[in-house]
Formats: sequence, C-alpha cells, structure tokens
Amino acid sequence: GGSGSASTIKQVKLERESELRIEVGNDAPLRLRLLNGTAEIFGTELPPEIWLNFPPRLKFAVFTWFGATIEMDGATETDYTADETPMVSYVNVHAILDGRRSRAKASSPDDSESSQGPRVIVVGPTDSGKSTLSRMLLSWAAKQGCKPTFVDLDIGQGSITIPGCIAATPIEMPIDPVEGIPLEMPLVYFYGHATPSNNVELYKVLVKELSGMIERQFTGNAESRASGMVINTMGWIEGVGYDLLLHAIRTFKANVVLVLGQEKLCSMLKDVLKTEPKVDVVKLQRSGGVVSRNAKVRQKARSYRIREYFYGLSNDLSPHSNIANFSDLFVYRVGGGPQAPRSALPIGAEPAADPTRVVPVNINRDLLHLVLAVSFAKEPDEIISSNVAGFIYVTDIDIQRKKITYLAPSAGELPSKYLIMGSLTWLET
Ligand code: ATP
Repeated sequence: GGSGSASTIKQVKLERESELRIEVGNDAPLRLRLLNGTAEIFGTELPPEIWLNFPPRLKFAVFTWFGATIEMDGATETDYTADETPMVSYVNVHAILDGRRSRAKASSPDDSESSQGPRVIVVGPTDSGKSTLSRMLLSWAAKQGCKPTFVDLDIGQGSITIPGCIAATPIEMPIDPVEGIPLEMPLVYFYGHATPSNNVELYKVLVKELSGMIERQFTGNAESRASGMVINTMGWIEGVGYDLLLHAIRTFKANVVLVLGQEKLCSMLKDVLKTEPKVDVVKLQRSGGVVSRNAKVRQKARSYRIREYFYGLSNDLSPHSNIANFSDLFVYRVGGGPQAPRSALPIGAEPAADPTRVVPVNINRDLLHLVLAVSFAKEPDEIISSNVAGFIYVTDIDIQRKKITYLAPSAGELPSKYLIMGSLTWLET
C-alpha cells in the first residue's frame, strides 16, 4: 500500500466472511464506500453508495457476511484482504447474549434476578482487540433494538472520553464507524493518570463508584437493565493488573467473561470463578487484524484523544480560552503524593499517606499544561464520589496578577469551581 499519489480510486471485491483491513495514511483522510452487497465496520452496517470519510491513522476493517464490493479513494498506510477472521465466533457470542436479553425483557421487572440482562466483561492482554470486540457486541445489540450500557475501564486507551478516566454511556444506535462512541451524556469519573499503578486504591474506589451509579440507574430503568452491559478493560493482566480485573468482575457482578487470546488468563479466571457458578468464562480468538501499538504510539494516541476533546475529530469544535482569578477556582488532587518508602520509616511504622485523601493544591506554575477535570462535587469531600462535567487545559499561569488562562470546550462560567488534577499533561501541537 501507501503509494501516496494523487487520485487513487480503487475497487476491492470481498468474498463472503472476509474483511478488508485498512490503516489510513498519516497525512490525509481516506474516502470509502460500499458499492454493492452488504458490509459492516466493527458491527455497524455501511450505508449503500455513500462516501464516508475516515481520518488519518484510523485502523479498521470492513467485514462482509455475504460478499461486497468496496470502493476506496486516497492513500493508505496498508490495506489487505483477510479471509480468516474470528467473526463467526464473535457473532455466536452475540446470539447467546441476545437470547439472554430477550429473556430478561420478558421477565417481570420485580424479579431483579431474571430481569437483569447479561453483564459482559471483555479481558485480555494489550492489543488483543478488546475495545473492538466490545464495540461489535454493542453495535449488534443496538441494531436489535437493545440499549446496552458501555462501560470503559481502560484509563490508557479508552473510547468514551479522554485518557485518565473510567466512564459509561448507554448505546442506543450502532456505533458510527468514523465518529465512534456518541459523547452526549457519558458518566465519567476522573482518575487522573494513564496507568493504575499511580494509585491502585483510587482506581478501585472509582470503579466502585461507577458501578454503584449504574446499579442505581438500572433500578429505575427496566429497559437498560434488561439490555445489560459490555465492559472493556485494560490490557494489564499480570500481578496487580490481574487483581484489578477480578475486582472489576466482582464489583460489576459480571456474569459473562470473554477472554481474548490468552489461554493462561482464561484458565486462571475459570479456576477462581468456578465457585461463583453463575459466571461463564469464554475463551475467544484474537483477530489477526488487531494492530499492535508500542508505548510511543499509545502516548500519541492519548494526546490525540485530548486534542479531539477540545477541537473535535476534524477540527470541527472551537474551544474557548478563558481567564479566571486564582481565587475563583479550587484545585484538588487525590492521594498523598508518592508514599514514603517503608525503608525511610521507623521499624514497624506504616506509611501514613492515604491514597484517597483529597488534598487542596496551591495554584502555581506546576499546573501549566495539565488537563484538569471539572467536578460535579458541591463540597470538597464529595470529590471522589462525584462524576465530572468535563475538562479544562491550563495554558498560562500569571503569578503576578494571580490569573489562570485555560482552554474549555465553551465560553462562560465552569459548571463548578472544584477542579481535580492528576498527572495528565498535554502539549498542544
Ligand atoms: P489495548 O491494548 O489498548 O487494550 P485492545 O485490546 O482494546 O487494545 P483494540 O483497540 O480493539 O485493542 O485494537 C487495536 C487496534 O487495532 C485498533 O486501532 C483497532 O481499530 C484495530 N483493529 C482491531 N481489529 C481490527 C481488524 N480486524 N482489522 C483492522 N484493524 C483492526
């Protein structure tokens, strides 16, 4: 691929149950349309004949169940056809989940057990295709008229909002192959770091808060409850990462665990969960199309996500630069900072730092280039248990005049004066 020359219209004929795997080039978008037949991108059907615009760097596959002809216009990094995919096994999982959703819908809402739809959690190592499988299951369910809740626990490469967050949102329509998850009203909790090891305790507390909130929403909404949830997780599956997976499975009361591409993880989970008889642990194959990303690519992807939050996927949003007095805003961080090493303490003493302590922060130049969350908390002691309204990006700190300049999605006053900082920085490019 990747000829990079001017107009490059090309047609690709796909046989049944095969897919066209594409990496859009770095510099220009790619236009693509379905000429005939039927095809889908990660579970969402393509409209016939309408040109779709895919932004640079996007990696995706156009899959067909019965055959299709695709037309592409533009340069790609790679594009190739694959006829070996795990799609049949994925859609079989969907069929089983669908049956469970129908049974849940048909049950009396008073029976809290049988009216609960499947709670699916997708686990596996990095680059095993967890987000992609989650997305397919959600889109197929939405196509069937269900409204599953998507829960994203991946603070590194999540797909609901910016990195450093865990979040949930109802999926009411198949997910748009270009725009991704709709961002109308996601429920977002701010953790503030791209890896859970910064503050494992806080991560767990936030997972608990999020699950409690969804539980309450399900109580008041039989339709959501019957549709269940699909939970995407992080690729960290060893040591503490494994403990966090178990914590998530139990906190969300997941009853279907889909393990992508890892024999060992699957048998470990089967083993510990066998005493919890209502949990099915299912091993699924990783797709050969999943693109591996190294640390640098991941860091870049995080940066693009933050940019997208403020400027939109194709620069279609115009964020506002605002100025506030130091005295108008209250910035907090969670946790006592790096804990004192045990070796520095008297023998027998425990490190005193409380990982979930909310600590006020003086506004100074340290905040420059940080992304801060705007909390819905009404009091500082509600900060951990509150979800966030959105984010701001600190672009200037004027110590002399005690003014802070920040970028926000819109002009006007922030929904709250309580801001949370973590270690999430961004360099606008
Ligand atoms: P993480 O390590 O961040 O947890 P993951 O396991 O969730 O990653 P995905 O994000 O689903 O993996 O996939 C990684 C990349 O591969 C994504 O850009 C995705 O769009 C791409 N991808 C997944 N499946 C295919 C496919 N069949 N063909 C082409 N690209 C694909």
